[in-house]
Order: sequence, then C-alpha cells, then structure tokens
Amino acid sequence: SAAHAQGKELVVATDTAFVPFEFKQGNTYVGFDVDLWAAIAKELNLKYKLQPMDFAGIIPGLQTKNIDAALAGITIRDDRKKVIDFSDPYYESGLAILVGEKNTDIKDAKSLAGKTVAVKTGTATVDFLKAQVPDAKLKLFPNIDNAYLELATGRVDAAVHDTPNVQYYANTAGKGRVKVVGSVKSGDFYGIAFPKGSDLAPQVNKALATLKANGQYDAIYTKWFGKKP
Ligand code: GLN
Repeated sequence: SAAHAQGKELVVATDTAFVPFEFKQGNTYVGFDVDLWAAIAKELNLKYKLQPMDFAGIIPGLQTKNIDAALAGITIRDDRKKVIDFSDPYYESGLAILVGEKNTDIKDAKSLAGKTVAVKTGTATVDFLKAQVPDAKLKLFPNIDNAYLELATGRVDAAVHDTPNVQYYANTAGKGRVKVVGSVKSGDFYGIAFPKGSDLAPQVNKALATLKANGQYDAIYTKWFGKKP
C-alpha cells in the first residue's frame, strides 16, 4: 500500500560513478539523479538512504527486492521491463564514442571494427556493440571512470558509453586528453526503476509530473546540464 512506502526507510540505489547523474564529491553523492530523487522524496514524504553500487548489480538487486528504487541513468528497454518496472521517462539519452585527442581513424560505430573498445559491464552499450560491431574487441569495466582512464593512457582505442556521461567527462576530467567523435545511437530514455509490481512507481510518476509542471525539474536540469535545448 501507499502507507508502506512512507512508513519505512527506502533503499534507493544509484551507480557508483556516472557523471553528472551520480558521483562522489567529498563524502557525499551528488548529481542530477541524486537531486531529482531528493525532490521526488520530498514531494511524497519518503525517507530513504542512497546505496551506490556497480551498475551490473542494480537490476538483480531490484529483482530480489533488496532495493526499493534505483536511479542510475537506467535505459528503459523491453527486455528489462520483463523483470523490473520503470517510471515514466525522465531524461533522453543515447550512446557516444570517445577516443584519444590525437585519434583520426575512428569516426562512427563501423570504424570500431577490429578495435579495442572499453565499455561498462551490464550496460546497454555492451548489447549495442555486440549486435552492431561484432568485430570490436570489448574490454569490460565495472566502473566507467576506469575505462576512461584506460583510454586516456592509450591502452584501448575507444570507449563507448551514454552520451551525457561521455560529454561531461570529455569537458571535465578528460579535457585535453580525449575527444567525443560521434553519437552512435539516440532516442534512449532513462527511467527510475522499481521491483516488479512496486506500488511506488505510480506515486513517483505523479511526483515527476508535479516537478515538471512547477519548474523544479527544469531547475535541476539546468543545474547539471545548462539550459535545455
Ligand atoms: N544507460 C545505461 C544502461 O542502462 C547505463 C548507464 C550507467 O552506466 N549508469 O545500460
């Protein structure tokens, strides 16, 4: 029941490292997802604790109900909808390619054939590349920051991950060492995820609609991404 969600401290999972949606700053987690959930929880009068974890553990954690909700830039997909529930979409995304600053031969998904590509375990990127560029050699990392480090130090040819994360990294920590060469996929949407049948999902959708209508969603968006396109 609705009272159930309000009565206990919810466990809300986020990714350990997915700038600028969730990342550690000092001893606390900050980011778009962190702020969005804080606003939703306030709207719904929910108590919660954030539980950062590797992305690959989040969907299994929802399936076993060890997690009550998760925000980790999780792409809404039909196969995932079979095992977990999603909120309405809250962010439009896609996939982009990151290469070393001096690279000239990688421009699109096709040019990744035969290359070593750093990707993050359990993400939509892995499935995308396996299907679209079966000749690419994938090197898996649970934490994308380590994949980017591998690229910046020249041990892989490229990294592929969610566009907003790739762009944010290229403009901050990776500045001068890496560059974004192209978007390989668009039209993905992130949703907040719940265990199947959770009664939290409809409440969260209502709160999300309220935050979109009253300007709070836009304020959080602008804080992390600048003006909306
Ligand atoms: N959007 C990606 C997916 O759902 C993962 C994003 C992330 O690394 N947190 O597979």
